[in-house]
Amino acid sequence: MNTPFHGLLATTLLGRNAGPAVGWAAFAGGIAPDVPAAIFYGWYCLLGGHTGIEIWEEKYIGNGWDLVSDLTHSIVLAGLLVSIAAWRRWWPVAAFAGGAVLHGLLDMVTHAEHAHRHLLPLTEWRLITPFSYWNRAQGAAFLLAAEGVALTICAVVCWRRYRHPAPRAGIVILLLWAVYWVASGRAFFQT
Ligand SMILES: [Zn+2]
Repeated sequence: MNTPFHGLLATTLLGRNAGPAVGWAAFAGGIAPDVPAAIFYGWYCLLGGHTGIEIWEEKYIGNGWDLVSDLTHSIVLAGLLVSIAAWRRWWPVAAFAGGAVLHGLLDMVTHAEHAHRHLLPLTEWRLITPFSYWNRAQGAAFLLAAEGVALTICAVVCWRRYRHPAPRAGIVILLLWAVYWVASGRAFFQT
């Protein structure tokens, strides 16, 4: 799914009845699992000379990047952090880790054969579903439409909840990014 959507969904679900610190922490936790992959992709785009599919299938798999990304997507590790933070009553930390758990759960059912190892370091097991967020042959158009509806609902809820200019500016930027993402064809990568 589109990374910023994970952030807004986490803020919507976990920032309810809490201050802005918890809302921002949930947003950061929602996008954090994708940060290693974004750095990796940005690096190879800067180097140039590689197509998107080469970058993901030849450079990403088996070069350590997939392990780092699987660890940041680990529901076990993020869940552990939620437990510790809730026990210590560190609510922004709990929201951050909770955002990462939500991200991991959503990715779990939308990555088809490119699924992360969701339960590292306990097991290498991955759930292979028939649904891919980027491959049209695996329901990506339907998932994108559902994501668009959910994104709009989250944006309305957060717009009403946060009246400060900073979060509202963030919501506008995020919606513009989503429109660019779809209009540029990046939502479906090479398909
Ligand atoms: Zn992800």
